[in-house]
Amino acid sequence: MNSEMSKNASLWGLTPPVLRFVDDPSNSSSTYNAFSYGSGKIYYGYALFYDAKSKSSDNIVNAMILAHEYGHQLQFKNNLPSVKEKTARSMELEADGFAGFYLRKPSGFNKTDFSQIAKAYEFAASIGDNNTSSPSHHGTAPQRRTAVRLGFLLGEFNLSVKDFDSQFFHYYSNVLGGTDPSVTPNSASASAFKINPDIESKIQAHMEELKKITNGEISVEEFKNLN
Ligand SMILES: [Zn+2]
Repeated sequence: MNSEMSKNASLWGLTPPVLRFVDDPSNSSSTYNAFSYGSGKIYYGYALFYDAKSKSSDNIVNAMILAHEYGHQLQFKNNLPSVKEKTARSMELEADGFAGFYLRKPSGFNKTDFSQIAKAYEFAASIGDNNTSSPSHHGTAPQRRTAVRLGFLLGEFNLSVKDFDSQFFHYYSNVLGGTDPSVTPNSASASAFKINPDIESKIQAHMEELKKITNGEISVEEFKNLN
């Protein structure tokens, strides 16, 4: 996991944050969680780690959860997400996007086939991180699937953290077709956004698919088999 942590950070040219494992033998299920703190620390529970590790030999579920938590570190450092909501939904969706991006990158987890990460994602997404008390903070399950898919598609390109943020929300709001103004980029972040022709053609080629994930026309099983 320390090497995963280092790969996450070096992908963005940063030094890794502190990663600590948390154990509680007297109440082992209490450590079924992972937390990312604004102070630059990620605490990872042993109960979560061992259960996630049992899911696959390549440990991709833990890699995905860690990449999501590291996404929060990128947000803390860069005052992101640029799209703010009353709940933490935009923060959580973007962290899912960062995780998809990391798993796609050759210098990250290097999975070129989405079906390899979607299966892991279903488990990872079922883990709540309790860094907010708002019960509605994660976004719906289809919205989260859309976010990780969009992040994965963006993983074919080289982006800075802030460019990832502006590209992510530009296309994510397109996916929703303007029906949810709260995730539409505000004027400050929209002005930082520039259309990249290669990204534009890649994402637009998947736009119908992304919309179908969001509105439930692509089932969970179909989602897992996207390539
Ligand atoms: Zn989170």
